[in-house]
Amino acid sequence: MNAVIHGDGMQYVSTRAGTPPLSASQALSAGLAADGGLFVPAPFPSLADWPEAGPANAVAGTLLAPFFHGDPLAGALQDILDQALDFPMPLVPEADDSYTLELFHGPTCAFKDVGARFLAGAMDAMQSPPRTVLVATSGDTGGAVAAAFDGHRDRVVILFPAAGVSAIQKHQLTCWSDNVLSLAVDGDFDDCQRLVKQAFVDPPLRRRHRLTSANSISIGRLLPQMSYYAAAALSLHQQGIERAGFIIPTGNLGNALAALWARRLGLPIGDIVLATNDNRVIPEYLDTGVWSPRKPTSTLANAMDVGNPSNMERLRWLYDDDVAALRHGLAARAVDDAEIEREIRTAQQDSGRIWCPHSATAAAVLRGLRSAGNRAPWVVVATAHPAKFPDIVEPLIEGPVPIPGQLARLMDRPSRYRNMAPVLADLEQALATFSEHLALN
Ligand SMILES: *Cc1c(COP(=O)(O)O)cnc(C)c1O
Repeated sequence: MNAVIHGDGMQYVSTRAGTPPLSASQALSAGLAADGGLFVPAPFPSLADWPEAGPANAVAGTLLAPFFHGDPLAGALQDILDQALDFPMPLVPEADDSYTLELFHGPTCAFKDVGARFLAGAMDAMQSPPRTVLVATSGDTGGAVAAAFDGHRDRVVILFPAAGVSAIQKHQLTCWSDNVLSLAVDGDFDDCQRLVKQAFVDPPLRRRHRLTSANSISIGRLLPQMSYYAAAALSLHQQGIERAGFIIPTGNLGNALAALWARRLGLPIGDIVLATNDNRVIPEYLDTGVWSPRKPTSTLANAMDVGNPSNMERLRWLYDDDVAALRHGLAARAVDDAEIEREIRTAQQDSGRIWCPHSATAAAVLRGLRSAGNRAPWVVVATAHPAKFPDIVEPLIEGPVPIPGQLARLMDRPSRYRNMAPVLADLEQALATFSEHLALN
């Protein structure tokens, strides 16, 4: 692993090794490293002892402490975690000796609430002048970040692909207070992500708006996501399952990377299987060792429509770009739309379980493992509530999906957004107008 001179506290370096090391809160504020790389902790910590099994917020305090060692945020860490992780994340036993880790009970019914709420709490605790959180979203990130920052002092600017999100997702991206600006980009998710990256490597623009990131590249989102893997693995360990394996719906690789980081920390996590949709760059990389990012294709699991997962850089860094080492304990499988549909239909008929299209990719991978004779106690990670995707799910199960209360309340709020072309000049213009508008109010 990359060696750095180690000071008192945990330091964060860029995956591209072109920037001086920063502290946790500096890395969290900066979002992306100045050389375009992603922040990684160096040296990567390891836990001397496991935390006691318990709820995710309690487990996370011990888990995250080394990552904030020596940082101004260290003292506030437990409070931030208690407030951010204030909803249940149940591990539900299923009939076939598998488990479902339900990560969809937060304010916007997707796992991204965890990272977004931690990030918002951490930024509140930093008490710096208002920043602008710039987010590219393929569906759920923007809503979760907007919900987490709604009415806070910091500002949020969301870029989403105008034609790439469902009606409900779009509402969740556009129903917020004045400190949130929602931009419908005439392009796909990778265009949105490229614009955000371009804005970050434009120092004057970055400075003018105090830009910061909340994408899954932000360590403020990645780090807290380790907590539910740790809580689940420790709870299962207590029940006699030595090392639980996880099957994780994967797009930009933020959620799964947290599982890999938790395992690297030393937690009792076994094999990890990445379930992708028909965007197959990660399974292909594991098969061939050749990394060939490309334009994404649209699928039913649209929050995973990613052709160039940015966290790949962190994954390769973690394994020193050694694919053979990477394959040890890590697999990936692509699930196409037909299989997603089949899984949603079959699961509902067999057990009454209703999957969202993303979670269905993981469930389909488990079904494949079971039919190949694998009897291991897998944990299927359910990343969103099916009620967010009624257009896809309801025709398949031939019935309604019950809507959770928090989702129903969001739908009652008015929606507003602006359209924009996928060019940096338009983003600059939108940012300028937004900050003038906020200054006047
Ligand atoms: C974002 C998202 C994913 C993919 O997570 P990554 O961290 O991008 O791999 C999967 N499912 C849902 C519902 C999501 O919103």
